[in-house]
Amino acid sequence: MKLLRYSYNDKIQNGILEKDIIKRIKGDFFSGFQITEDEINLNSVKLLSPTTPSKIVAVGLNYVDHAKELKMEIPKNPIIFIKPASTVIGPEDPIIYPECSTQVDYEVELGIVIGKRAKNIEKNEAEEYILGYTVFNDVTARDLQRNDKQWTRAKSFDTFAPIGPLIETSIDPFDLPISLKLNGNTRQNSSTKNMIFNCYELVEFISGIMPLEPGDVIATVTPPGVGPMNRGDVVEAKVEGIGVLKNYVI
Ligand code: MG
Repeated sequence: MKLLRYSYNDKIQNGILEKDIIKRIKGDFFSGFQITEDEINLNSVKLLSPTTPSKIVAVGLNYVDHAKELKMEIPKNPIIFIKPASTVIGPEDPIIYPECSTQVDYEVELGIVIGKRAKNIEKNEAEEYILGYTVFNDVTARDLQRNDKQWTRAKSFDTFAPIGPLIETSIDPFDLPISLKLNGNTRQNSSTKNMIFNCYELVEFISGIMPLEPGDVIATVTPPGVGPMNRGDVVEAKVEGIGVLKNYVI
């Protein structure tokens, strides 16, 4: 099922997508919902981030091919960091280039959306706590990341977490083609099968540290090919079976 959040006539609504038609739902994705008779064409609405997380837990260096590219050792445990909820934007929203940075990079990632509160969950039960999967762009001020020992500043500017276009609830996350285009040119191209720690292992590791709340997002790290964006660029992050998340850099 494809879950959407959108605005229409200045109202924020939730729906499910079937072909190009959105069927509005009553209720929410987490505590249950009913599909209404209310239908609208996808082109008539403004899509929003399909989730409004309380936090984004992001993972650093989780693709075998990316680790090789950087000549880094495969880590024993996932390296994690937090992006605040204030960074979230939706499809087609602008990514605002901060004045204090001279290198803002794209990073396409598979996003795990949590469906119910998860604390101390084992990997073999993780699936039950996952609502579905989305596309995430872990926008990063790379120069600031290099300068600071901590990553918080580099990862936390407003608009640095585009999420969307939807949440796919019935997809196997273990071998999905994942790619990114900048101004129409492919810059990243891999598969989620190259992840060092898979989605269920990440839920186990992170939920052993902190509770994951409904709507929270785990950003599962980018494959090789990260690089800079400039003002005026169009960035399209894609995960096969989920969709394309397009944003503009201003
Ligand atoms: Mg990242």
